[in-house]
Formats: sequence, C-alpha cells, structure tokens
Amino acid sequence: MPSADHTRLLIIGGGPAGYTAAIYAARAGLAPICIEGYGSGGQIVRSPQVDNFPGFPGGVSGLELTGRMRDQAESCGARLVLSDVTQVDFGVRPFQVRTDEQTYRADAVIVATGANPRRLGLPGEDEFTGRGIAYCAICDGAFFAGKQVTVVGGGDAAVGEALSLRNVAAGVTLVHRRDNLRASTASKRALAEAPDVRVLTPYVIDDIIGDDENGVTALSLTRVGDGARSTVRADGLFVAIGHEPATALFAPWLETDRGWIRTQPGTTVTSMPGVFAAGEVSDVRYRQAITAAAAGCAAAIDAERWLVNGAAGLLHGADVEPHGHDLAAGQPVAVAAP
Ligand SMILES: Cc1cc2nc3c(=O)[nH]c(=O)nc-3n(C[C@H](O)[C@H](O)[C@H](O)COP(=O)(O)OP(=O)(O)OC[C@H]3O[C@@H](n4cnc5c(N)ncnc54)[C@H](O)[C@@H]3O)c2cc1C
Repeated sequence: MPSADHTRLLIIGGGPAGYTAAIYAARAGLAPICIEGYGSGGQIVRSPQVDNFPGFPGGVSGLELTGRMRDQAESCGARLVLSDVTQVDFGVRPFQVRTDEQTYRADAVIVATGANPRRLGLPGEDEFTGRGIAYCAICDGAFFAGKQVTVVGGGDAAVGEALSLRNVAAGVTLVHRRDNLRASTASKRALAEAPDVRVLTPYVIDDIIGDDENGVTALSLTRVGDGARSTVRADGLFVAIGHEPATALFAPWLETDRGWIRTQPGTTVTSMPGVFAAGEVSDVRYRQAITAAAAGCAAAIDAERWLVNGAAGLLHGADVEPHGHDLAAGQPVAVAAP
C-alpha cells in the first residue's frame, strides 16, 4: 500500500510536461506526487505573452498558463511538492527519489525536468550571476530599471528579452556572434520596429568587467573576423543563448543523447523500465509548451499502462484497455506494482 512517502507514480518537474502528466495520472487514480522544483511553472513563466497555446484567443502570460495547469493538477488530486530533487536511485525497486527534506519511494517515475539556460562559460560568470548577470528578463528585468543592459544571443528568446527590457532599462544592446540573427521573421520584424535597441553583430563577449561594489560595469567585445576589440558599458548582461536539458541527475541511470534523455521513438519509454521522460528533457526538436504538455499526457498513459500491465502494456498499448477503471470517477488502479 502506498504510504506517506510511497507513491505509485512520482513526477519530477513542474512545467507544462510535469503538470499535464500530473493531471492525467491523477484522473487515472494513480494519486501521483509531483515534485515541481523551485523553478515551478517551468521556462514559459519567462514569457509575458504566449499566443500559440490553444484555447487562449488573445494570448495568455506564461505565468498564468502554468498557474492554471498547476491548479488543475491539484484539483484533480495530484500532490504537489515545491522542492528540488537532489538525488535519484533507479537501481532499486521501488525507485528512490530524494529532496533535501524527504526520500520518496515510487513504483514508476516520470522525468519532466525540462531545460536550463545555457551559460556563456566566461570567467566571472559565476561571480557576477545575480549581481549583473541574469538569465530571465521577466524574472530580473525590474532590477535594471534606468540602467544600461546588454542581451547576448541571436534567437527568438534573445530578441524577446531585448524587447521586453526596453520597458525598464535606459538602454538595451543586443550582441550576437553572427551577422544574421537566427530569430524568426516575426521577431526580426519586431526588432526592426524598435530602433532604440542597439544591435551589435558579429561580436562575441570575451570578458565580463566588474567589481565587488558595483557588480557588472562593462563588457569586453571582440569583432568576429578582424578581432577588433571594444568595450561597452553594461550594468547588466542577460544571457539568452539557448538551453541545456536538466538531466545531470539521471545520466547515471538513463541513456542520453548529447544530454537529452533517449526515449523509444513515438513513446516516453526510457532505457530504464518504469521510468518515463516527457517534455524538453527528451525533446530537442519541437520544444514548445504544447508539445511538452502532449508528452506529459503520453508519459502518464505510458506509466499507467506499465503499472497496470507491465511491459506487455507498453508493447501492446493499442490492444489493451488502458483505462480499465472509471476515469471520470477517478477510481484507483487496484493492481500490484510490477
Ligand atoms: C523566454 C521563453 C519564451 C517561450 N515562449 C514560448 C511560447 O510562446 N510558446 C511555447 O509553446 N513555448 C514557449 N517557450 C518554450 C516552453 O517554455 C518550453 O517548451 C516548455 O516550458 C517546456 O516544458 P517542460 O515541462 O518540458 O520543461 P520546463 O518548462 O523547463 O519545466 C521543467 C520543470 O522541471 C523542474 N525541475 C528541474 N530540475 C528539477 C529538479 N532537480 N527537481 C525538481 N524539479 C526540477 C523545474 O522547476 C520546472 O518546473 C518559451 C521558452 C522561453 C525560455
């Protein structure tokens, strides 16, 4: 029988993938525990306006979107835990998942830890993180009211950060290492309509200049091609150069591909029976809130089939009755763990 720290299904991650998995699993009667992480809501909370998630004509903020998903998971019966998982042991059954506060035991696990912002890797980056260096304009932009900020990156996220920082900062510079930004046409158009954003290409940042008292004060740049050096004043640097999957905890246990968790094509099944992966943690291709949510749904169904029917449930998923209980009433699945 499940006890306070034992659950049929434990979900790691509180983004679109994790919350959707929690909704489906709770409605399937699995009484899941979802450890959300301190970054609850996931990456999309950084977006002030999400226009492409179905069901929201006129758009919705990322914070509200995942807030609603979270509320729905909770009202369906998922137990949400605001903590980070610090260690997992997938070599024992039930699986063990640890936070600083508690150790959980789970018959099945869904990994939905998404991705983290990629770092520049420059000396001084650690030292000045939180004292001038930031990775999220929505989260930290207000600290730079009336200041000079630089955004580094050339994709949609970088352009979005630069445009949103215009609303608070005194001046915004966008630095990219190539001549052409790889942002979408829509983002480039929006940037063109914001002539107050200074665009510097092709430049790389090679040094972060600052001191203990003031944090970041300037950036040293090198022009790609001729190596010409220059310095720009900057009170803040927003790094928007992509993301890396948050998989370090799982690498000893699960097969990965350049860091992303490997799943069997068309499923959320990982190399470890009973462990499933959903969302950006295993998706290098689509990386959208809706695809993450869809993968969360798929992972909950895969996990349920595995818990109910073992490996056969996965192999013949289309042939077995996955919902042999009353989903609408949320009847518990009364079978032993495989
Ligand atoms: C600035 C920005 C704007 C975007 N705009 C859009 C958009 O308009 N439309 C769109 O569809 N997509 C957008 N995206 C992409 C979208 O945010 C992601 O595709 C989506 O959030 C991925 O969902 P996920 O659940 O897989 O992972 P994430 O959103 O990354 O969530 C991962 C979750 O795992 C948790 N976690 C991580 N490590 C641990 C741990 N050790 N223990 C416990 N929990 C952990 C985190 O706290 C977080 O809650 C945007 C992304 C960014 C960065």
